[in-house]
Amino acid sequence: MSLLLTLLLSGIVACCGHPGDSVPRLLLVSFDGFRADYLETYHLPHLQEFIEDGVLVKQVTNAFITKTFPNHYSIVTGLYEESHGIVANDMYDADTKKTFSQFNDSDPFWWNEAVPIWVTNQQQGNGTSAAAMWPGTDVKINNATPHFFMKYNFSVKFQERVEKIVTWLNSSDPVVNFATLYWEEPDVSGHKYGPNDTENMRKVLEKVDNHVGYLKSKLKASGLWDSINVIITSDHGMATCSPKKLIVLDGCIDRSNYVLIDKSPVAAVLPKKNKKYVYNLLKKCGNHMKVYLKEEIPERFHYRHNKRIQPIILVADEGWTIVQNESLLKLGDHGYDNALPSMHPFLAARGPAFHRGYKQSTINNVDIYPMMCHILGLTPQPHNGTFSNTKCLLTDQWCINLPEAIGIVIGVLMVLTTFTCIIIISKNRVAPPRPFSRLQLQSDDDDPLIG
Ligand code: AMP
Ligand code: ZN
Ligand code: ZN
Repeated sequence: MSLLLTLLLSGIVACCGHPGDSVPRLLLVSFDGFRADYLETYHLPHLQEFIEDGVLVKQVTNAFITKTFPNHYSIVTGLYEESHGIVANDMYDADTKKTFSQFNDSDPFWWNEAVPIWVTNQQQGNGTSAAAMWPGTDVKINNATPHFFMKYNFSVKFQERVEKIVTWLNSSDPVVNFATLYWEEPDVSGHKYGPNDTENMRKVLEKVDNHVGYLKSKLKASGLWDSINVIITSDHGMATCSPKKLIVLDGCIDRSNYVLIDKSPVAAVLPKKNKKYVYNLLKKCGNHMKVYLKEEIPERFHYRHNKRIQPIILVADEGWTIVQNESLLKLGDHGYDNALPSMHPFLAARGPAFHRGYKQSTINNVDIYPMMCHILGLTPQPHNGTFSNTKCLLTDQWCINLPEAIGIVIGVLMVLTTFTCIIIISKNRVAPPRPFSRLQLQSDDDDPLIG
């Protein structure tokens, strides 16, 4: 009976299309901590098929600091962390004395410095938004949550999240045209085993790949697969760390001098009294981290202009861990300098908005926001992204990428050289004797005299 009903329903879907078929739809998926090069190291057939059918950006330059909450918010706002205000997974606001952590993240105060795309989508009115656990989606931001959302709970299975998302995407009242889907792996295993433990990472990545297959099968079964745009990306990569690479703060400075707001690999230090004194002691704490006064933080990090960024920050070198004196329980971590390839995720996308079989080397994660707004027909909020960086991925945009441009220039040069050679050769050729024309000329010349 239920089989008959399913067949009937899928028949209706196949014949009559979906509610809101005229509006473009977009599903944004994040597999936390999916380092870009996992795609090359491991055999991931579902992801490979998805990529062949769409586009791939091999490395996405994410925002500093390369942590989960800040980067998920950069993707959906197009803003660097100093501008959207989620500057770490653990924060402290000195004025209000409020704290933020992944277990205490639902105060809108922290999120309201920006407007995420799910809110703008609902405000501009082509449809509503739905979310299965993207950071921030269970918080009222600018007075709104996505129309459909789930309270964050890591024990909800991937299959359940997908089923919810697909049900919501099938809703006709209201129509859902934008949805997010989040999954904790391969981040959790990356921390536990380290990214170089190929045996354990293979196992978890094969599971992630099967999740992609499951998502595809569910979207296909509900008739959405051909019309929906799907972006699969991540927030950051993962670096190998080691108990032999510890920067022990207690060896350099007494804890009574400062409060440690955020830990490693970017430690946020709030000095209790004398900032310069604390700074000078930290400067002498080995040579495997950079110590910055807030005003000295390099421009390229775009990580200075927010009062939630603490007066001193310490940035550990790749693979090093800042501790007070604890021992290290993990073999992988992220948060390091966003110029490091190990910190970069990838982006793959498929659907009517995207080319098929196109590959590009890089974009910034803040570029994803204007691209998503374009697909959904939304006017973007002010942002730090560059839409033109993503033009070559999109079917409705004209673009020449670098290899094509070089090809065209070389082609034009070859044609010009060939023509020049032909002209030179033909000019230099010895003219064949033309006896009759000479005779004619002479007879013309002589005519008046004869006459
Ligand atoms: P991290 O690796 O420390 O940057 O953070 C990753 C962890 O953040 C995940 O393993 C989850 O436990 C947690 N997390 C992810 N999304 C959320 C969310 N929406 N709410 C609360 N915690 C989350
Ligand atoms: Zn993460
Ligand atoms: Zn993590």
